[in-house]
Formats: sequence, structure tokens, C-alpha cells
Amino acid sequence: MLSALLLLVATGCSIVSPTASAAGEPVWPPTPSPTSTSAPTATPVARRAPVVVLDPGHAVDESGAAAHGVVEKESNLDMAVRIAVLLRTRGVEAILTREADVRAAPPGEQPTRTDGYGGTRNDLQARIDIANAARADLFVSLHSNGAGDPSVRGYEVYYNAQRPFAAESQALARALLDGVTAALGAEGYPTAARGVIDDTCLKAFQGRCFPLFVLGPPRVTDRDEVYRRGGTPEALGFAPGQQTITSRATEMPGALVELLFISSPEDAALLRNEGARNAMARGVAYGILDHLASKGR
Ligand SMILES: [Zn+2]
Repeated sequence: MLSALLLLVATGCSIVSPTASAAGEPVWPPTPSPTSTSAPTATPVARRAPVVVLDPGHAVDESGAAAHGVVEKESNLDMAVRIAVLLRTRGVEAILTREADVRAAPPGEQPTRTDGYGGTRNDLQARIDIANAARADLFVSLHSNGAGDPSVRGYEVYYNAQRPFAAESQALARALLDGVTAALGAEGYPTAARGVIDDTCLKAFQGRCFPLFVLGPPRVTDRDEVYRRGGTPEALGFAPGQQTITSRATEMPGALVELLFISSPEDAALLRNEGARNAMARGVAYGILDHLASKGR
């Protein structure tokens, strides 16, 4: 769901995470598990395998889209686990920005609902920091969409055309879209490819373009903007008298996949379907592998 990535949405939801079957395969829907207070961390290590950071969108009280028995934060994490399994069997080091229903922030810095804008911003910054600390080759954020019109369906992939590696991000986005198209088509699941989209001006606010936080260039946040969005500058790290702070952006090509519309009854039925979920996981994983292969990895 894009609105939450634009730091506008926080909704309440139950706390659950995926489980594994006896065969070790992820099971959907997930069953409840205890709340973890620890956040995933990544440590740079010497390696030869390509490293891909998978970013399951949303967590905790900021749950993304929810309808028809599907809650986005849970679905995103389940998809990330399925994709990671596939990548690891092909020799790719897959790192998740979160492995449970926790914000991607250090344990002592877990945002709360009262942090508002600042909490979501810190969570998104932590996801970027994990990818940079891992020196990942690729960053792939995983979401599902929501819309007011229940007839809107399909999947789409975003990239940012303003980054130094925009061409590779665009190629990755295309590979991901094509991978999902091939995998869903092979199994006969009906939905629609909505395309590869530059997110540079995804949202305009007071004459300024806002891309998706996790894909865009370093973002300058103004103290007055924080106040307008209901946040507290000090919670974002503003020093007394400091008017702006600048975010840290990803240092590698990346894309954000929106896997179907939870708001569509037909798409939500596919998101509840084991076969369709596995097909989409294969599509994303093969898209990543195809892209890596095209780069000689
Ligand atoms: Zn989302």
C-alpha cells in the first residue's frame, strides 16, 4: 500500500507472523506467534554470493492495506519468506529487513503509535540502513496494493528514475514484472500486469514531488513539515534550533513490487490461495535471478 510508505497512514492490527510447515515450506495464512522485541540486523561479511535485501512492507500498528481476510503486513512478510527460500536454494544471500511483526529499528528505538510520522520515518530509514550495512546488490520491497475502487486489480513495480543507478533499477523492475507475469500465467491465475512505474512524482505536496521513501534520493525533512504531519522533530533526531535533517538513501539498485490489490475481492482471493502465492514468489525470485544473471552474477 503506497500511502503508508508516503508516511500518511498508521492503522491498528493484530500481531501475527508466518509459520513453517513440517516440510519447511511457509504456510498461509499465518498463525499467531509471540511478539518479538528484537529487530533484524545485518553485518557486512566477505562473500562471493550476490546479496539481495527483501523488504516486507509495514509492521505492527502500521499494517498497510487490509480487506477480505488479507492484512498486508502479514502477507508481505509471508511472501518475503517464500522468496528468500527460493533465492537461497539458488545461491543468493537473501536478507529480510524484518523477520517478524516488528518495526525495522534497533530494539531500543522501536517506534510506537505516539511517534506518528517520526515512527514510520525511522522504520523506513532502518530498512534502508539494513540494506546499506549489508552492502546488498539489490533492494526489493514487497507490498500489496489498496484502492477505493474494488474493481482495480493487478500487480505493478516501482523504481526511481532520479537515482544514479536508475537504469539498473528500471531493468530490475521490468524483470520483476515479467517474472510475475510468467509465473502467474503458467499457472493460469487471472489478473493484470499494470506496468513498470517511475515513482519520482508519485505524490505532490505543496508543489514538491515525493517518491517512495525507500526508493528515492536522500530526503530533506523540514521541522515545520514534521509539525504539520503531527510529529515531534526531537523524535526524528532534530537538535534544538535545527531546521532540517536529511535521510540516508539506498546505495544500490532497487524496486518496489505491489503484488495485487487487497481491496479487490478477486485479487484478495488469489492472495489467500497457496498456489497463487507460490507462483508470485517464484515470479519475484526468478525476476531477481534473471536480473542478476544479466549482470553476470
Ligand atoms: Zn504497502
